[in-house]
Amino acid sequence: MHLRYSYRIYPTASQCAVLARTFGCARVVYNDALAARKEARKAGLPYPRSADLQKLVITGAKKTPERAWLSSVGVDPLIQSLRDLDTAYRNFFDSVSGERAGRPVGLPRFKSRKDSRQSLRFTRNGFRIRSNRKLNLAKIGDVRVRWSRALPADPSSVTVVLDAAGRYHASFVVDVESDHLPEASSEVGIDLGLTTYAVLSDGSVIDNPRFLRKAERKLKAAQRELSRKAKGSKNRAKARKKVAKAHAKVADTRRDWLHKQTTRIIRETQAVYLEDLNVRGLARGRLAKSVHDAGWATFRHLLEEKAARYGRHIGIVHRAFPSSQLCSECGHRDGPKPLHVRTWACSACRALHDRDLNAARNILAAGQADRLNAPGGPARPGVAIPHQARPVERGTHLGDLRNTDTRAPGAEGIPRLQAGEDVKRPVAVPRSPSP
Ligand SMILES: [Zn+2]
Repeated sequence: MHLRYSYRIYPTASQCAVLARTFGCARVVYNDALAARKEARKAGLPYPRSADLQKLVITGAKKTPERAWLSSVGVDPLIQSLRDLDTAYRNFFDSVSGERAGRPVGLPRFKSRKDSRQSLRFTRNGFRIRSNRKLNLAKIGDVRVRWSRALPADPSSVTVVLDAAGRYHASFVVDVESDHLPEASSEVGIDLGLTTYAVLSDGSVIDNPRFLRKAERKLKAAQRELSRKAKGSKNRAKARKKVAKAHAKVADTRRDWLHKQTTRIIRETQAVYLEDLNVRGLARGRLAKSVHDAGWATFRHLLEEKAARYGRHIGIVHRAFPSSQLCSECGHRDGPKPLHVRTWACSACRALHDRDLNAARNILAAGQADRLNAPGGPARPGVAIPHQARPVERGTHLGDLRNTDTRAPGAEGIPRLQAGEDVKRPVAVPRSPSP
């Protein structure tokens, strides 16, 4: 499996200048190729093949006075830039044909000098790691790297990235064998929330990291400062850089923290079950800040990635599963709970539940049942999980917000959701057919 390993690198001033020129050349090659394809389309011609494009926008262009400067930089990143365009087109076509899952991918767009992120990719011929641990990039030279962890194998490519905060990173692609951990005995269901980050079915709680709030306050202050600077002024440019730095700090801190949490969970448990949450939809509503904060999508992505690597199972429970309404003791469906209800007693068996822990236990049970009943899995009749239920319950927990239509904010979507708001609302309750 391919993994990315990213490290901060520190090019010298003169190397930065060469990198800047190479970023520019790679961008021009990309844009020229994109323009050529667009023209071909306009003229009703077939798309130019990659080899022809390469001749046109790299080797051929170098001989013209307008593009002669392309010769001043390494050719490898330019070719890789064309490959990126190929990939962008392929993703677009796959997305249109439905072969690619996830959100729709648009047509490739022209790159701009003002893009906040600049990147270059070097293949095996374009870079090597010297015995003095410096990264040698063709036509750029030996760059100092902060090796924060060891590379597990020889990398097949490296991407040099300049972010909005002015930092350079080298991101290596490494092909590693999956190294399955010894089997663990425990399985866990996870309920993702807002008051706490997550509650696990074994009773442990992952708290929202407070340090993120601190980093965020700094970001806000920087943003306020920026808004007060005159447009086009030098001070504004400085303030913008400060905002970018604060942003980078928040993102790094969050990512670090998520890595730690997911690694721990994957090490300790054999199977992890989560709810399928409409995170993208949620992020558009008023809860946006908390949702982004929490980085649920990243949390799930990291869990899946690590599960694949270490031989663990990740099960996703359907988003219509009423994890907050069921009693995890007796299976009784107790009905919707108002938002402020953090604990409740089952009306059938009188068991007292913590809202989130109960939900996590239900997710665990539903995930295990799904896995047993999956094609190829051993069938186990009598697992009483009412999957046919299609409730729309409201709650502070993400699981409760699954079915809200966030494309119509303000109507009945999330923006109106407030702590304490009652959950009563006409939903599709099975009724006797009307005459
Ligand atoms: Zn009960």
